[in-house]
Amino acid sequence: MVRQAGPLLAPTANSWAGLDRAVSLGPEGILEELERAGLRGRGGAYFPTARKWRTALRHGAPIALVVNAEEGEPGVFKDRALLCLRPERVVEGIAIAMEALRPSITVMFINGRADPAAAGFARALARSPVEGRVIVYRGAGGYVLGEETALLNAIEGRRAVPRPKPPLPVDEGLFGLPTVVNNVETFAAISAVLRDGAASFRELGTNETPGTRVLSVSGRVERPGVYEVPFGTSLAHVIAQAGGPAVESLALLCGGPSGGFLPGKLCDVPIGPGRYHPTGAMLGAGGVVVLDADRDIRRAALAMAAFNAKESCGKCTPCREGTPLLLQRLAGQGTEEFDSLADAIQFGSLCGLGQMATGPVRSALEFWPEVFR
Ligand code: SF4
Repeated sequence: MVRQAGPLLAPTANSWAGLDRAVSLGPEGILEELERAGLRGRGGAYFPTARKWRTALRHGAPIALVVNAEEGEPGVFKDRALLCLRPERVVEGIAIAMEALRPSITVMFINGRADPAAAGFARALARSPVEGRVIVYRGAGGYVLGEETALLNAIEGRRAVPRPKPPLPVDEGLFGLPTVVNNVETFAAISAVLRDGAASFRELGTNETPGTRVLSVSGRVERPGVYEVPFGTSLAHVIAQAGGPAVESLALLCGGPSGGFLPGKLCDVPIGPGRYHPTGAMLGAGGVVVLDADRDIRRAALAMAAFNAKESCGKCTPCREGTPLLLQRLAGQGTEEFDSLADAIQFGSLCGLGQMATGPVRSALEFWPEVFR
C-alpha cells in the first residue's frame, strides 16, 4: 500500500510528457538534463546515472540496456509497487533511456514470483511507444540475482553466479556488449526528471542526492507500506509516520541481509547513500524492517544469517563455507573467533552477498551482545 507519494508514485495525467520532452532534447540533451538533476541510481550503489550511461556510450559500440526488477531482498517490495501501481512511469523511463542510448537490445528482468508486477508492466508496455522493443525475461528467483553480473549470466542462459570484475558491465556486459543496468526505481526517477525538469527534481532531497527515495517499511508498525520521502528525511520521522514503537524499544533492520541493525537511539539519521553505522546498517535498496529490540533481535539476526547461507551461490569458498559457519556459531551461542571468521567472509568473498553478509551479525553483536550469550 502506498502511504506517502511523491513525484515517482503520484498519478499524472499525461503518461508520455517526459518522453515527448526527451525526444525534443535528443540524446545529449537527455544526458545533460540527468546531470543537472544530479540523478543517482536507486539500486544501492547510488552511482550517477548519466556518468554510467556516458561510460557505455564512450565505447562507440552497440549497447545493451537491462532493467533490474529482480528485487529478491526480504523486506523490500517498492519496485513491485511501482510496477503494479505506476508501471507507465517505469516504461517511460525505459523509453527515455532508449532514446538516449539507442541500445541494440533492451531487456526487462522481472522476478519470477512477481506476477502482478509483470502483469502491470506488460499492460503499460503494450500501450507505450516502445512496445515490441523490450524483451521481458522472468527470473527463477535468488537473492544473488540482485548482483548485476549474475543477472546478466541468467539472461544469457548461464548459471546465475557473479562474474569477476573487471570488466564492469558498462565495458563488457550482456553478450560482451557495453551494458547499462539500472533498477526499476531509477527509471521511474528518470521519467520524473524529464517530465518535471531538473530544477523541479532538485527541489526535493539534498544537494548531494537530490530527489526522493521510495522506502519499503514493514514489521512492527501500525501502517506498513511504501513511503516516498525526500533524501535527507530522518529515519525516525518515517518510523513515526508509519506508527512505529517508542524509541526505547525500537530496533531497525536497514539494508536487509546485506545491511544491519540499528537501535532506536541511533535512528535519527538522514536517509541517504552510504552506511548509517559502520557495523552494517545502510539505506541499500530502501528496506526498513521495524523490530522490537527486546524480543526480536536474536531471531532476526539468525534469520538473516540463515538467509545469506542459503542464498550463497557457492562460487567462492569464503562465502560458501563461511556463511553456514557464521550461522552455526551464532545459533550455538559460540561467538568466539567470530571476528576472524567474519573478516575472512567480508574481505575474501567475490561479490556483495558475501562481502556484506556479516553486517546483520556484526551489528546485532555490537548493540545487543547479551542476547547471544
Ligand atoms: S560471495 Fe557468495 S554469492 Fe557471491 S560469488 Fe561468492 S559464493 Fe557466490
